[in-house]
Amino acid sequence: MNAPSQLRIGGMLIGYYCICPRKAWLSMRGLWMEQESQAVALGRLVDQSSYPRNKKALMLHAEAPCGTPLVGKIDWAQLDHGVLHETKKGRSCEDAHIWQLRFYLWLLRLNDVTRADGAPFRGELNYPKLRRTESVELEPAHETRLADMVAALRRLAGQDTPPSRIDTRSFCRRCAYEELCYG
Ligand code: SF4
Repeated sequence: MNAPSQLRIGGMLIGYYCICPRKAWLSMRGLWMEQESQAVALGRLVDQSSYPRNKKALMLHAEAPCGTPLVGKIDWAQLDHGVLHETKKGRSCEDAHIWQLRFYLWLLRLNDVTRADGAPFRGELNYPKLRRTESVELEPAHETRLADMVAALRRLAGQDTPPSRIDTRSFCRRCAYEELCYG
């Protein structure tokens, strides 16, 4: 991946961009580290073992205002209640989790999908290991920010060199790309 013309942006990439634009750039270049794959697989396991009866996964496609194709794989959805769920292991990247879920809500908004009564969908971040749930809404200002993020990711995809490292060394120690960034 990924010439800007071929770029498809998903929720995980939005989350990466919130955490560290360099991480987003590396993943757009096809560098998908084993540790990252294991973390995602572990997250799926937490997800699958936590809500076995309610689950209904959902794939979404939409187009950003700038024309970029967008794609979302929602962990599970309660369509009758108008709720999209995203299950996470821990809260260390909660801001990124919130933007990932807002991105999925945005895909519904871009497709004019609402609940049966016309109300917008809302999101729930589920942390089963912590026994916590956080509610997530999509406001007009969030839609503007998401469109800006997509535009920034398009620019990033066209960059030949990665952005600088972030300053939070303690966070980098838990990142799958640490060796690449500091080796
Ligand atoms: S190690 Fe740090 S700078 Fe490098 S991609 Fe990960 S978060 Fe970003």
